[in-house]
Amino acid sequence: MKERTPLHVSLHAAIADRRDDLIALTQDLIRIPTLNPPGDNYREICDYLDRRLSASGFDTQLIRAFGAPGDSDKYPRWNIVARRDGARTGECVHFNSHIDVVDVGKGWTTDPFGGELKDGKIYGRGACDMKGGLAASIIAAEAFLAVVPDWAGAIEISGTADEESGGFGGVAYLAEKGHFANVHHVIIPEPLNVDRICLGHRGVWWAEIETHGEIAHGSMPFLGDCAVRHMGAVMHEMEETLFPALALKHTAMPVVPEGAKQSTLNINSLHGGQAEISRAETGLPSPCVPDSARMVLDRRFLIEESIEEVMGEIQGVLDRVSARRPTFSYDMREMMRVLPSMTDQNSPVVQTVSRAISDTLGRDPQYVVSPGTYDQKHIDRIGKLKNCIAYGPGILDLAHKPDEYVGVEEMMQSAEVMALSLAELLVDR
Ligand SMILES: [Zn+2]
Repeated sequence: MKERTPLHVSLHAAIADRRDDLIALTQDLIRIPTLNPPGDNYREICDYLDRRLSASGFDTQLIRAFGAPGDSDKYPRWNIVARRDGARTGECVHFNSHIDVVDVGKGWTTDPFGGELKDGKIYGRGACDMKGGLAASIIAAEAFLAVVPDWAGAIEISGTADEESGGFGGVAYLAEKGHFANVHHVIIPEPLNVDRICLGHRGVWWAEIETHGEIAHGSMPFLGDCAVRHMGAVMHEMEETLFPALALKHTAMPVVPEGAKQSTLNINSLHGGQAEISRAETGLPSPCVPDSARMVLDRRFLIEESIEEVMGEIQGVLDRVSARRPTFSYDMREMMRVLPSMTDQNSPVVQTVSRAISDTLGRDPQYVVSPGTYDQKHIDRIGKLKNCIAYGPGILDLAHKPDEYVGVEEMMQSAEVMALSLAELLVDR
């Protein structure tokens, strides 16, 4: 391992001094339950971050995404952008973290909003995805500011809403309002692990297919037309032709995990016929032939595939079913499309963080691409900024699972990498 520079030694020490602070900050963030949906406590967590970052000399702005999907007076979509300028003009480095977390789900052995520290791990919903990363970026910036009094440019830290539901009330809103116009480098501390740089993500296409039928008495189904059977034919055709074809499409993108290095399709949901009667109720369903069935598709695609090709394959399935079933009728509706995004490996933020990882950990980073999208899509498409990566502590596989945790050591290491990256980008050498 090559010898550390005096600046690196000082940054390392400044982060070591802040270990307890980093733990307490992460625990505080976990203890504000920012569940999305519905979008709880965004204002509370923004106020908390406001107090914290104002005390560290940042100018802060609280921004509500009025009119964004999900924004209401009951569940306002609040975001925070904090900025601190250096002594001289220079480039702006922006750390962006989402403040929302997903549903808790079953199977926890710790309190999901307790922030318990056990064996060097902090547990809780959002611990790795991504309150640990947010805390690490704050500690990194504070350590850098304490060690380096004279620097050029600006540091921004944002906490944004709704990433888990598409980011429209968060990063997309900020990007539309021009908040990334004067930003040069973006680091998103999603849980990709301390030695991996995430360059981007696969594309997404969500669509709803509805098959139509005709309602009739369930004892005489021949008098109606069953929409669920039509949907069954669609699923059968997918199994026979589409899934095998997708499994053969591989990508040169360094997607992790290995299984995501190909095109994938998930059937996200399936609804047919009457709404289910809850078990708490005693009533029985009435006998009806379903006149409607709906399926939501989640297709993840590769940089080598076009959106037209992706849509054409689903159309092909429907056309083949149509040719075999005389009364088959359907509608298809696009719900969301996000094109694949991948930052050039030679771009400045990738190169800087890569060197900082080598200098901190003594090993070269691994370059990866995420199977799912994250807020980089909005920074790329709306913000028109390509120089963006995801880099942060935690294990991606733990995200959204029970007993989610983030390791304190990993947070310390990634904070050091972030602080060192700030030094390379904002200090004249
Ligand atoms: Zn996340």
